Amino acid sequence: MSISDDLYNSLNNERVFNIIAGPCAIESEEQINKEASFLNSMGIKFLRGGTFKARTAPESFQGLAADGVRMLSRVGNSFNMHTISEAQDTSQLEILVQHLDIIQVGARSMHNYALLEAIGRTDKPVILKRGFGSTVTEWINAANYIHRQGNSRIIMCERGIRTFSDSSRFTLDLAAVIRVRELTPWPVIVDPSHAAGIKNMVIPLAMASRAAGADGLMVEVHHDPENAMSDGAQSLNHNDFKTLIDRLNLINDNRQIY
Ligand code: PEP
Ligand code: MN
Repeated sequence: MSISDDLYNSLNNERVFNIIAGPCAIESEEQINKEASFLNSMGIKFLRGGTFKARTAPESFQGLAADGVRMLSRVGNSFNMHTISEAQDTSQLEILVQHLDIIQVGARSMHNYALLEAIGRTDKPVILKRGFGSTVTEWINAANYIHRQGNSRIIMCERGIRTFSDSSRFTLDLAAVIRVRELTPWPVIVDPSHAAGIKNMVIPLAMASRAAGADGLMVEVHHDPENAMSDGAQSLNHNDFKTLIDRLNLINDNRQIY
């Protein structure tokens, strides 16, 4: 079995509730080192960090690109954590595949079929986020674009969809999590951070996700959210993250959290 298969199997283990955590964007090596050191001390094995950032506004911080990828790789290696970052288009794939363990497809790229097919020709596990305007059927079709090229190491990620509700940034669709787990062989994780857009909703939505049977979570964490260069409003600080783990442990379904 390849390293990618081993890694995918550890993510697709029904006795484990996997947590992928880290900052929205990598801002410096010092910053990602701080987050990784803390998360590692909490037993977390999956470190995320945006390097090529697809921001809603063009004037927002766009990420450190290739430098960020190398920082994430170095820091991940030093803590023995698996690394994850997003590819927005095929031109970014090579450096991500070369340095990192898992490739993320963002909500805004779920319909980028050239990207999906290119990832399908790699052996890397891929986190496929649901487009915020996409149906469950469209999301599964996007996953099939990856699968048809030979890569079945897919992790589906619900991250909230656009509805008429203005109580949060997006509306977390937990019914879709249940449905996609029934309809596909792939694990389904939830990103409560982008769904909520506001920090105080992240922990309750994470608990609800675990209770609904999600296979894991992707959560944004920053040591100093007030000064984060992106998505500070929804990022948990280190103390909040400890509270998240305590609350998730209240839902005892015999799955270990890490
Ligand atoms: C992210 O996870 O960094 C991100 C940009 O999320 P989404 O694609 O779900 O908006
Ligand atoms: Mn973000």
